[in-house]
Amino acid sequence: MAAPELAARLERVVDHGAETRAFFLRLPAPLVFRPGQFISCLLPVGEERLIRPYSIASSPEEGDCLELVVDRVPGGPGSHYLFGLQIGATLRFTGPWGTFTLDRAPAGEAVFIADGTGIAPIRPMLRRALASAPTHPLRLLHAGDGRAPPLYHEELLQLARTNPAFTLDHVESRTLLREVCRRWIESDTDRTRHFFICGVGLIVPTLRDSLRQAGYARRAVQYEKW
Ligand SMILES: Cc1cc2nc3c(=O)[nH]c(=O)nc-3n(C[C@H](O)[C@H](O)[C@H](O)COP(=O)(O)OP(=O)(O)OC[C@H]3O[C@@H](n4cnc5c(N)ncnc54)[C@H](O)[C@@H]3O)c2cc1C
Repeated sequence: MAAPELAARLERVVDHGAETRAFFLRLPAPLVFRPGQFISCLLPVGEERLIRPYSIASSPEEGDCLELVVDRVPGGPGSHYLFGLQIGATLRFTGPWGTFTLDRAPAGEAVFIADGTGIAPIRPMLRRALASAPTHPLRLLHAGDGRAPPLYHEELLQLARTNPAFTLDHVESRTLLREVCRRWIESDTDRTRHFFICGVGLIVPTLRDSLRQAGYARRAVQYEKW
């Protein structure tokens, strides 16, 4: 049976630099989803109906408002369609989908690794982990191109100021693999950490494989590759 289609209204957009935009969607009723899940947008482009998944960057507690944060990909039909939408437009989608999720802080140190807009699913996961009385440290390594301020920078800094369990570091995307190796492979022999990795392209499986080959359990290294 086909997944039921839902419709949302584009209520507001916020630009994060020239090529990244947050889309705030209003739903007729709250969507039940788990932090980290995505929706599959159904985009009428030309004669086709493209299906493009986008992670939900807001939290389930935000009710009938969903936030997506999207990069405009050069020559990409789906992202260009979204960037062309006017306020008030209807966006159809199915979902929520996905198993890259977090319902509570893990029973061990948690390391979130977000490359660029890969922060989208990690933002609600992190908020949920912080809200669930974490007993172990929560760390975010947030990578970017070093030109624009990292996405949700002020909000994440504020979370770090108010939650002693949470620490936040920024690195440039080009140094991400080196930083991960230095911090969590070469620095000690602790292999009890839990990793949540999200980003675009080869860096994601490269990080996943490096961590697993270094001795972290397979199920302790979760990832989503775009
Ligand atoms: C589970 C899942 C969740 C996703 N969530 C998001 C999200 O929250 N925000 C988002 O911007 N994209 C997200 N994506 C990517 C998104 O679905 C599309 O692939 C992207 O918008 C490109 O579609 P397009 O039609 O514009 O370009 P296409 O012509 O389909 O181009 C695809 C190419 O763009 C690359 N690409 C994909 N995403 C990006 C990106 N964000 N930045 C730069 N290059 C990219 C792909 O690696 C591929 O090479 C997600 C993908 C998956 C699988």
